[in-house]
Amino acid sequence: MLHAPSLDGGLGFCHEALLDLLPAGYHGPLVIALDTSVLLDLQQHGNQLLNGETPDVEDRYRKELEGLGGLIDLWLIRDIRFVLTPRVLSDGERITSRQIDRREAAMDALTTALVFQRGTWRDLELPPHALVPIGEETGLSHGADRDLVLEAQSFGAHVFLTRDRALARKVRLNGPALSVLTPSILWDELVIAGVTHLSGGICQSGNCPYDGWPFVAPDMGRWGPFMSIFD
Ligand SMILES: [Zn+2]
Repeated sequence: MLHAPSLDGGLGFCHEALLDLLPAGYHGPLVIALDTSVLLDLQQHGNQLLNGETPDVEDRYRKELEGLGGLIDLWLIRDIRFVLTPRVLSDGERITSRQIDRREAAMDALTTALVFQRGTWRDLELPPHALVPIGEETGLSHGADRDLVLEAQSFGAHVFLTRDRALARKVRLNGPALSVLTPSILWDELVIAGVTHLSGGICQSGNCPYDGWPFVAPDMGRWGPFMSIFD
C-alpha cells in the first residue's frame, strides 16, 4: 500500500525513467525516509523554502536547502511519500522532552498527510518500537545514523535523505536497494531526469499505471498536516 499508485497521491515515478533510484519494474510513489537533520531543516526553514526563498547560510548548506525546497515544491503535486522512522525520536545527545514531543508531532503529521493519499494507510501506521532490520550496514559506526538507515531500508523507502554528506559517503548497505542521498543530489537527479510537476520520471509504456493518467490534482488534504511541521 505504501508503494501503490493512487489518484489521490498524484503522478508517481517509474524505474525506467529513474534507473538508479527505483527497483526494476517499479511504477509508483517515490518513498523518502527523512534523517533527523532533514526534519530539523523542515521545521526551521520549511516556510521559507515553500515560498521559494533560501535562508542566508553558507554556500554548501544553502545548496542543500535549495534542493530540499525543490523537493517540497515537487511534493505538492507529485506522489512523493515522506516518512519518519522511530529512531528519529531518540536521535541526539542532549535531546529534550520538548524536542521529542515535536518530533512525535511531526511523525503524526506525516502519517496524517499520507492518510489523505491512501484511505487504507491506517494499516501501515508506524510501530512504536524500532523496525527490525532486513539488511546489513557496515560503513557507519554503531549509533543513530546506522539505525536510521536500516529502518528506512526495512520500511521499504527508496531514498534515505540526509544532510550529512559524510554519512552518505560512508554508508555500505546490503539487502534491498536504498539510496542514501543529500537533498541537493536527489534534486539534481530528478532535474536531470526531466521531472517537473506534470511530467517526467515516468516510463510511458503500455503497462504503466501512469499511462493515460488523468491530470487530476492530488488530494490537497495532505498539505495542511505536512506544513504543520514548519515553525
Ligand atoms: Zn511506468
